[in-house]
Amino acid sequence: MEVAIMGAGMSGLSCAITLEKHGIKPTIFEKRNRVGDRFVNGEATFSILNRPIKDELKYLKENYDIHLKPTDMVNKLVVHSKNEIGCIDGTIGYVNIRGRHENSYECQLERQVESKINFNSTYEYEQLCKEFEYVILATGDGAYACKLGNYRCDLTCTIKGATVEGKFLTNIAHVWFNYDVIPKGYAWLIPFSEKEANLVIAYPDYPNNIRLDINTIWEKFYNMACRDLDESFRITDRFEITRYMMGICDKPIIENTYFVGNCFGTISPGLGFGQFTSVLTGIYSAYDLCDLDKYEKLAKPLFKNYGNSINLRRFLENLSDENIDLITKNLDNKLLDKLINKIISNESKLEVLKILTPTMKMWNNYKNEKL
Ligand SMILES: Cc1cc2nc3c(=O)[nH]c(=O)nc-3n(C[C@H](O)[C@H](O)[C@H](O)COP(=O)(O)OP(=O)(O)OC[C@H]3O[C@@H](n4cnc5c(N)ncnc54)[C@H](O)[C@@H]3O)c2cc1C
Repeated sequence: MEVAIMGAGMSGLSCAITLEKHGIKPTIFEKRNRVGDRFVNGEATFSILNRPIKDELKYLKENYDIHLKPTDMVNKLVVHSKNEIGCIDGTIGYVNIRGRHENSYECQLERQVESKINFNSTYEYEQLCKEFEYVILATGDGAYACKLGNYRCDLTCTIKGATVEGKFLTNIAHVWFNYDVIPKGYAWLIPFSEKEANLVIAYPDYPNNIRLDINTIWEKFYNMACRDLDESFRITDRFEITRYMMGICDKPIIENTYFVGNCFGTISPGLGFGQFTSVLTGIYSAYDLCDLDKYEKLAKPLFKNYGNSINLRRFLENLSDENIDLITKNLDNKLLDKLINKIISNESKLEVLKILTPTMKMWNNYKNEKL
């Protein structure tokens, strides 16, 4: 069987590893000169978003023999709102490195692949379609799926970030929701060593936001983060991404083409997590090609998760700074603290996002009626 994989990232490489385990050697095409598309980046996976799976890395290892080593576990998530700070404690998930770093997830996956990766590829999808029996589209965005009329883009985002030097505990991540500074968006700090972290802002490209100056927002946030964490971060690298697409395909397979990773729609619009689901779509597409299961069937829960995540996005956007302050304050409320920490940490199997979706929908409807 002749299979071309277009894109050597999270989903493409996971597909290659799984195909090889079942006797198929794919041909991998990567447009860059090495694995690790982007700048070095600290990312995270939070178990609460992957339920009913408790521990995503253990799950990949035990079920699919795919091995990913994180930088650390996240034991504390500090939530900063406009006027409050709250903490969630427990085994929340993992922090990891992405991009051009030997320990990045894509470099770890590359070491588990046997097939040759053709770097600096200039192959177009149309060419691969003609030359191969099957094409796995794993290029990391919805552009091709859009072109093929197989993608619904729900929103695009502007993302600006930096690598900063300072003193960090690798098991603690920070998130900021302050709509005064970042309207309808959020910011985060994810450490990828004790000395380096990523400081990032992201917000949806709605008409009012497009009018804003990203550099002014960034400066305000940067000063706020330095003040909140009592640090004077030194910026060593910067990046900016415009029009980052969040959407989902209509069909996971069309004729001989499989849509995986962000080409499928693995990035969750609620909070922008996409790594774990990208790996899953890579595996599921390989299972389909190896006649072990059906991609359409395996992908069903991913469509549902995406739908719940869109509701989460709308819910977050419908909150005011006062609402967020109230939620943040209650994270440390003595009565609720233990319960919240237990539900959110990966000791629990509760599908929190699914359970909360009807309430979030009600809130969203109520808010929309008021407009
Ligand atoms: C700033 C930022 C922060 C994020 N943070 C998190 C986070 O904390 N947690 C989380 O879970 N997710 C996060 N995500 C999302 C996550 O990174 C993606 O969902 C995931 O990487 C998608 O995997 P993929 O396989 O689709 O694409 P990628 O892993 O990006 O791989 C795509 C590959 O395809 C290659 N390619 C592109 N075009 C072509 C072509 N024409 N021919 C050949 N090769 C091509 C690229 O060079 C790249 O190597 C973040 C995303 C961004 C942008």
